[in-house]
Amino acid sequence: MPHATAGGPGRIHGDGSVTAHAPAKVNVHLGVGPLRADGFHELTTVYLAVSLLDSVTVWPDEGLSVTVTGEGADGSVPTDSRNLVWQAAELLARHAGVRPDAALHVDKSIPAAAGLAGGSADAAAALVALDALWGTHCTRGDLAGLAARLGSDVPFSLVGGTALGTGRGEQLSPVLSRHRTDWVLGIAGDGLSTPTVYRELDRLRDAGDLPPDSVAGPADDVLTALRGGDAGELAARLANDLQAPAVHLRPELRRALGVMTGAGCLGALVSGSGPTVAGLLPDADAAEETAAALAASGAFRAVRAVHGPVPGARLAG
Ligand code: ATP
Repeated sequence: MPHATAGGPGRIHGDGSVTAHAPAKVNVHLGVGPLRADGFHELTTVYLAVSLLDSVTVWPDEGLSVTVTGEGADGSVPTDSRNLVWQAAELLARHAGVRPDAALHVDKSIPAAAGLAGGSADAAAALVALDALWGTHCTRGDLAGLAARLGSDVPFSLVGGTALGTGRGEQLSPVLSRHRTDWVLGIAGDGLSTPTVYRELDRLRDAGDLPPDSVAGPADDVLTALRGGDAGELAARLANDLQAPAVHLRPELRRALGVMTGAGCLGALVSGSGPTVAGLLPDADAAEETAAALAASGAFRAVRAVHGPVPGARLAG
């Protein structure tokens, strides 16, 4: 791939490449309603963008190609049209009436199938980078419309910060919460498929092992806690309806949650559909110290100290 060099005002580097970054997310609240007729669940979720970033670099080429380094480069992340960055490129090209000609390189720090919306982050970064490369001059509204067609979490990956998501999660309202929150992410060895976790939720509800509707409920309390900026209050409000089915599928997640709280986290929850576990800490020093202790415990494949909120997909440089 070309080296990123100068980086002019248009963010197109001297070698013609463009790079964009996009963040992972944690759902500090994930309320899942009953299954809808269209096969989706009605969600009430509060997304928080955190400081674990993937980058997507694009440059002119004939046709489309995708390469991946970092997390998932062992083959678990596809490099063909199944990759969301490929789909983002085709969608943007069709929308703008240009030829889908670009090489895309994804450098992943966000583990794949971890409940951190890594693929969605990459799709959002690809839209932003290709819009600059192809000079398609899309508005943020145009990009948000394309993002929603790529996946439920992609619109949030584009805007970042803190947002309330409804519908499939793609209908966003910004949340006024400027307070920094500090977290540790405990990443398990093997990914969990999001559809499998939703199916397990439906199964447990049908069997009467879980109530038929959301236990997490509406997001009012967590939104109040976020506005107030008290980490202890926020910790008490963390809720995720996908946690029970994720723990059912991966019983070791129960222990992982216990390890987090035992290590000093104010609260911990499964992130999205898992298997990543997110623990909330009072400040950045505590997050760094707890991350080091958790890494030494061997309970996780990897541990990261992160903070939020951070911006969504942005051009680098
Ligand atoms: P969700 O957004 O549903 O919570 P997740 O964060 O758990 O998903 P992702 O990292 O987005 O999981 O990956 C889910 C699956 O999507 C992967 O197993 C992979 O097959 C596919 N995929 C497509 N494009 C990408 C990409 N750029 N990065 C990672 N996975 C991708």
